[in-house]
Amino acid sequence: MIVGVPKESYPGERRVALVPVVVPNLVKAGFEVVVQAGAGVEAGYPDALYVEKGAKVLPTRAELFSAADIVVQVLCYGSNDVTGKADLPLLRRGQLLVGFLRPLGSLEVIQQIAQTGVTSFSVELVPRTTRAQSMDALSSMGTICGYKAVLIAADTLPRIFPMLTTAAGTITPARVLVIGAGVAGLQAIATARRLGAVVSAYDLRPASKEQVQSLGGRFVELPIEAKDAQDARGYGTAQDETFYAKQRELLARVVADSDVVITTAVVPGKKAPVLVTTEMVKAMAPGSVIFDLAGERGGNCELTQSGKTVVEYGVTLIGRINIATEVPYHASQMYARNITAFLSHLGKEGKLNLQDEITRETLLTKDGEIVNQRVREFFKMPALVALGQA
Ligand code: NAD
Repeated sequence: MIVGVPKESYPGERRVALVPVVVPNLVKAGFEVVVQAGAGVEAGYPDALYVEKGAKVLPTRAELFSAADIVVQVLCYGSNDVTGKADLPLLRRGQLLVGFLRPLGSLEVIQQIAQTGVTSFSVELVPRTTRAQSMDALSSMGTICGYKAVLIAADTLPRIFPMLTTAAGTITPARVLVIGAGVAGLQAIATARRLGAVVSAYDLRPASKEQVQSLGGRFVELPIEAKDAQDARGYGTAQDETFYAKQRELLARVVADSDVVITTAVVPGKKAPVLVTTEMVKAMAPGSVIFDLAGERGGNCELTQSGKTVVEYGVTLIGRINIATEVPYHASQMYARNITAFLSHLGKEGKLNLQDEITRETLLTKDGEIVNQRVREFFKMPALVALGQA
């Protein structure tokens, strides 16, 4: 089986799906690796490094897609809604495709992918289980995003983060509030703490309290309880508007007292809940910063403009998207390890064992159909007859 790595085509994307260091592992597992010329350059991995590790470099995208039995990408069509469509004619029936496909995004786009006949695996669908942990690209990218968001916020804030006692007086530490303590939020807490800020955090999942505290953060307790706060897969669940209204009311004081607010609260397949209103922004001190990591999903702050940084009422609102690409070296390294673990799990023969939970739950399209049960349910499509051994 030949694994092909095209150059990412989303504007500004600097990551690459495989890095040279994983090539020997894949070769050992029975795969061959081909890379489109220049695919890793922007992440810090020149072609020569791939060749040194046993990969072959192909000059064009068309040659790459044609040679590959398995195409691995970071942003495939689906998550790459700008240039991704151009890859559709390069895909063929029975070929495997692995990457971010935004499976709960646009049904029309997923149907277009399905129609190529490609057997696609969406990394967003990797189950959040211990067995699949090494393949969990969402966690890898969440980790990078949480880290980078804090650095960008610290750089934007007109104050410093740590407490300093100097001959010129004492500087009080910055107060950082993290709303949503999932993977990105926890990394944001850890990073802000390392920079010396005083950090508090809130999540509607009570289970996150201990994790926040273990990182040295103060857990903000709100006297409201979410209904079934966590679903079977560990995700926070959508709540009704009455709950969100109460949340906003209770969070107002904490937000007003913070210099930096990092929001990460999302629910899979849903628009992000608005947790920070215009009124709450107005109550913050001038120069404060809100980094809305949920910006791509509509934003947790009412004033966020997805993809932009704006100043409203003296508060800088950062809605930058695709943050992981701003740390391309390590984001690619982590992603490459996740993909390598996933490919090794599939096996070098490319024969799919659909009795296996990881393979079955990650499989999105096959033989012209959207075959993923969760995705079909989400889009209210009729169920397919049970998938057997492929
Ligand atoms: P996510 O990116 O989907 O959401 C971020 C956080 O926002 C979640 O913690 C969620 O509870 C929170 N949130 C949603 N609505 C909210 C609201 N109204 N107010 C406050 N917070 C709200 O989540 P994620 O980072 O991908 O992780 C979700 C869970 O899965 C976490 O518990 C994480 O520990 C778990 N997880 C498990 C594994 C594993 O077992 N292998 C791997 C990764 C993550």
